[in-house]
Amino acid sequence: MVRNRTWLAFANETICNHRKALKERGFINWTTNVTSKFVENDIVYLFMNDDRSIRFKLRVDKVDEPREDGDYWIDSAPKDHTYKLKLVAEYGGNLLKEEVLKRVGFKGGGSILNPSCNNAKLLEYINDVFKIASQTVTFTLPSYYMVVDLGSGAYCKTNIGHEVFNLMSNDFDGRFYGYLPPHDNPNIKELGAASTDNYVDGVMIVYVQKQPNSTNRRIIAFTDKARVHAEKQSNPDLNRFISEEGMQTECTYTIESDYIYDLRTESDPFVFNVSGEDLQMFRMQRFYTGRHPRQEVKMLQWLVDYLQRKGREVDNDFDFQKEIQEVECDEVLSNASIQPPHYSDGTSGRTIVKKASASKQALKNANFKCEFDDSHSTFLTNKGVPYMEGHHLIPCTVSNTERFWSKKRNIDCPENIICLCPICHRRIHFGRKVEKDHIIRSLYNKRKSLLQNVGIEISIDELLALY
Ligand SMILES: [Zn+2]
Ligand SMILES: [Zn+2]
Repeated sequence: MVRNRTWLAFANETICNHRKALKERGFINWTTNVTSKFVENDIVYLFMNDDRSIRFKLRVDKVDEPREDGDYWIDSAPKDHTYKLKLVAEYGGNLLKEEVLKRVGFKGGGSILNPSCNNAKLLEYINDVFKIASQTVTFTLPSYYMVVDLGSGAYCKTNIGHEVFNLMSNDFDGRFYGYLPPHDNPNIKELGAASTDNYVDGVMIVYVQKQPNSTNRRIIAFTDKARVHAEKQSNPDLNRFISEEGMQTECTYTIESDYIYDLRTESDPFVFNVSGEDLQMFRMQRFYTGRHPRQEVKMLQWLVDYLQRKGREVDNDFDFQKEIQEVECDEVLSNASIQPPHYSDGTSGRTIVKKASASKQALKNANFKCEFDDSHSTFLTNKGVPYMEGHHLIPCTVSNTERFWSKKRNIDCPENIICLCPICHRRIHFGRKVEKDHIIRSLYNKRKSLLQNVGIEISIDELLALY
């Protein structure tokens, strides 16, 4: 049996336009006149000499082929024997740039003539980056990001600092404005801006926080579409004031975004290991793309998993509506809140099996009227009742279910399920943060005591953080 290997090869674009060949033909030829011996199905990563970055993942398709990529050679191509290397994937981000690769053991320079396969750790890192890129088809993780340490230093002890507003939606416009500790002003050139730019858009910001009794930092929030200003901004209309030594101080900001994924209640968050040679990781309270590559790929993989899980939960919620319409529910469900939850272990991970009858009961309890606004009308289903959807106010995710079942309460119960018209249901999932919060607050006020009656306790702030 042949064990396949992974190689790193160097493409010299002044000799042959490999990039164009790969784009137009989907393969390149690689001379067999080298000491390295490829076998079929080996993987070859291609480092481009012109932009000093790995851009392509190739697979050895054939091991003894006449050269076919002669058209792309700058001078005349040799008539040699070649390996045929097929394009598998292209990577356009900046985690495989020379300076980042050097931090994971890339030596560069000298070995340009012969492909190498002996730096296992480096190749594993490259593999991880390509793996993440292949998983982000339905959403895009930005190339540029900044990891920000929130609430260490003085803030940690007093809870008073300019960063108090970072994870809070602003009352004025519902957006998020973030202070960058310790003294705001970021270096936006590190985030892809030109030196004359005043701000840069489409940046991912990852907020982390020190864990108690440890130097490690856990992820507490992120946004994938922030604007980052070069200079600190001030806007009194946003009402971001704190009192310091009896004085009102306006908190400046350099980060703004329409929304933030709040991860403070995540039971298994990503954690940066801050020790050994990474002990200085958060000395500046921030770092930019590619500074700590090995830990960053782990962080990115965590974010990919998180976004995929979120996506599945929303899909589940909408697929589930058909079942609710069809189920008969004649007897009144009175003890759903104390029945054990059901899980299913599918290919895409553990999910909750929701009871259609509990949702149907909730729709019946509401007389098939939208509980956000009972004047919202839809159409009649073939059961002769208005079409409405069931939405779990405390979202029925695995982590939320586990959290409440630790107190022997099942959140898949009519008390936690709201009857909503399809527009309001979409709005609560996909609406702007302000609009979402408005519905959630209104529904929470209507449901609070019902939930308390069955022993489900949650504050409005905790609930908002779950959306
Ligand atoms: Zn829903
Ligand atoms: Zn409605």
